[in-house]
Amino acid sequence: MNIIVFGPPGAGKGTQSKIVQDNYKLKQLSTGEMLRAEVASESTLGHTLKAIIAAGELVSDDIIIEIIGTCISQPECERGFILDGFPRTLPQAKALDVMLSHMSRSIDHVVVLEVDNDILIDRIRSRIDETGGARSDDSEEVLRNRLHVYETQTAPLLPYYEAKGVLRKVDGMLPIEDVTAEIESILGAP
Ligand code: AMP
Repeated sequence: MNIIVFGPPGAGKGTQSKIVQDNYKLKQLSTGEMLRAEVASESTLGHTLKAIIAAGELVSDDIIIEIIGTCISQPECERGFILDGFPRTLPQAKALDVMLSHMSRSIDHVVVLEVDNDILIDRIRSRIDETGGARSDDSEEVLRNRLHVYETQTAPLLPYYEAKGVLRKVDGMLPIEDVTAEIESILGAP
């Protein structure tokens, strides 16, 4: 089973993807985590990525598509995967379709976590309070830019998946366990 989890920054994609990974024995592929690891490695690519991520802008499609292409063909993805943070643009979604068709695979479910912007801003404020802003993009100003990027570049993908008949919306403002229950009712019992 191959799944995409969509949602604005702070909607809980990472949290829910990890739960699905454990319960369904699928592989979580978080492009944000992979990019942060690349930055931490202080490679040349990491240096280029650092400023882009800190500003809340999107990394170029070519880089991301190559990273994901390598990951989904690994044996650990054989049972299926959860894409957390990918695709974020239409060219990424189309490239994913091409990669999957070469592997005779497809996306089974696209789950969208819906959360109001004012709640996302409250959540980032508490994350900064709790962690002291551990992530370079943990600031209200950057969050506002990330929300804008989501609305202008990523949300337009939703009709693309709706047309394929795989898109399901979930209220991401419910308690974590209730969001998980909604997702499990879409995916079927683990
Ligand atoms: P995330 O942890 O998914 O919120 O991602 C953190 C940051 O990594 C984003 O704000 C982007 O700068 C970058 N990023 C993650 N995934 C992608 C993607 N699919 N395309 C472009 N940039 C991405």
